[in-house]
Amino acid sequence: MKNKPPTMAALATFGAAPTGAEGIQITPNGASPSTIGSTDYFTGHVVVVPLFPATEFTHGTGGHVTFAPGARTAWHTHPAGQTLMVTSGKGWVQEEGRERHEIKAGDVVWFPAGVKHWHGATDTTGMSHIAISYMLGGKNVDWLEQVSPEQYQPSVSEQRATA
Ligand code: MN
Repeated sequence: MKNKPPTMAALATFGAAPTGAEGIQITPNGASPSTIGSTDYFTGHVVVVPLFPATEFTHGTGGHVTFAPGARTAWHTHPAGQTLMVTSGKGWVQEEGRERHEIKAGDVVWFPAGVKHWHGATDTTGMSHIAISYMLGGKNVDWLEQVSPEQYQPSVSEQRATA
């Protein structure tokens, strides 16, 4: 039984399992150091806590990301999509050419592959989310230009709509 991978039937019943796992694996909080979001890919104060790597079966990396008010990602795409689960606070997500959406704790967001977007806090509230980013061809994100202050600041009509 040692190192025997789960059968397809087991996967169908229980979902994807860690590669080669012999039993339950618990990764202690803090096992991987948190990092400050790089100014190449983020604006403002961002803390990234790595949660889990992709495996042969799960294909997605997990991370817990916290944005201070005003902080956000750069524009980017994901080659195989991304799921966000908002764990606290309130933030914004936006797809290029479309209006932004407000997201709050408990919301789940799916970005399809290749859709150009950004996510982050609102200008007045912090926001944390767990991000599961799916791998394709050895990568899970393609970074683009920063979200400018003009793009980030809600327009007058948007502010009126949410008031
Ligand atoms: Mn994304």
